[in-house]
Amino acid sequence: MPDESAMRRRDLPGLVIVYTGKGKGKTTAALGLAFRALGSNRKVAIVQFIKGKWKTGERKFAETLPGLTFLVMGEGFTWDSDDLSRDKLAAEKAWAASEQMILAGDHDIVILDEITYAINYGFIPVERVTQTLMARPEKVHVVVTGRDAPEEVVELADLVTEMTPVRHPYDRGVPAQLGIDF
Ligand code: ATP
Ligand code: MG
Repeated sequence: MPDESAMRRRDLPGLVIVYTGKGKGKTTAALGLAFRALGSNRKVAIVQFIKGKWKTGERKFAETLPGLTFLVMGEGFTWDSDDLSRDKLAAEKAWAASEQMILAGDHDIVILDEITYAINYGFIPVERVTQTLMARPEKVHVVVTGRDAPEEVVELADLVTEMTPVRHPYDRGVPAQLGIDF
């Protein structure tokens, strides 16, 4: 453990953390951080910018955890039609909820899982995201995950990790597994 007296813990700033790249581990890294923070009684919010049709392991577990706010984009909608305007609306709503939580400062960590896709598809203007990150209360940590993180977000981040794929079981035909991939 680092010496906490050397740098008073309460003076430490909130961080913008980006997990990007083509390798597996972005969402699970963010979930690991949430696990760690919840264990130290921090309040955590996770917003998943994915179509909320399937119940992933993290979503099922989240429902049992106090101190964790867990939102999935488009919950309550039917996703059977490939309707782009509906996707956009769902992304906008998920972003509005995220923005509100980041600015309110009630959560120590706000995780924006897979938000890079919603930005890169043009559903959420990148300036809205960077403005919110810059305007957030200084203690709030924000985690951004997803491939192809926009340059503007990377620029202002304090911590950026790019996952590099070296090998993935999918390459030899092993499909996604319960408990490992979802
Ligand atoms: P995880 O949620 O497992 O941490 P991730 O967030 O880094 O993965 P995503 O781009 O969100 O990756 O994709 C999620 C799904 O795609 C997972 O089932 C994961 O195993 C799979 N996946 C991730 N990277 C690769 C890859 N390089 N090749 C094949 N499948 C991959
Ligand atoms: Mg992911």
